[in-house]
Amino acid sequence: MRVKLKFVLPCLFLVQMATAQTVCIDAGHPSEVGTGTKGKVYTEVSLAWKIAKGLQKALEAEGVTVVLTKSEELEKVLNRRRAEIANDAKADLLIRLHCDAASGTGFAVYYPDRTGTTKDGITGPGKDVLEKTAVAAKKFHAIYAAALKGAQKDNGLKSDLKTAIGAKQGALTGSIFSKVPVLLVEMCVLTNPADEAFIGSAEGQQKIISAMTKATLAVVKPATASEKARL
Ligand SMILES: [Zn+2]
Repeated sequence: MRVKLKFVLPCLFLVQMATAQTVCIDAGHPSEVGTGTKGKVYTEVSLAWKIAKGLQKALEAEGVTVVLTKSEELEKVLNRRRAEIANDAKADLLIRLHCDAASGTGFAVYYPDRTGTTKDGITGPGKDVLEKTAVAAKKFHAIYAAALKGAQKDNGLKSDLKTAIGAKQGALTGSIFSKVPVLLVEMCVLTNPADEAFIGSAEGQQKIISAMTKATLAVVKPATASEKARL
């Protein structure tokens, strides 16, 4: 028994060191672009808040430090400020949660693949952030899509350029100000009744939170995630 403890204790210490990661969760809206979209029953702002809180709980249970960009559902925070909160926290990942209003169904993951410029002439993100973001976004999307296979349609990993604001600026405002790896998940098409029913249900929310937790852990603590898989 003594021999075993001698071995186990240093290992626990190493795992503890490896798990000191920080994730910033940005539940979208209200911001300068409004209060978000609405389905027949649910609002984007309420669903993003609910998923954010669920994700926070799941990540904290895995030893990850979580910072939220707002303290209550209807607190208005500008997109620049949302990125600054992640920067101040030195987050390993800024994950932004939204629901789309469009035709079609399913989810998509967006990330900045080039520098953009705001209408006030501010340029970002920097080259190192773009490089880290590309790696993080690809990994996140692959694991998120695999976890939701059969439950939601995967509309792919897309450049910020494919969003209305990204098309004008080159990147989303939250990306331009980000000094940490950043991605945005459009979790569903809320104006699609089937998507709304899925994300509105406890089962659907659990599936989304579980997929997001796996994908986030793979990005911020990959060694520990694979260690767990072996156990
Ligand atoms: Zn939105």
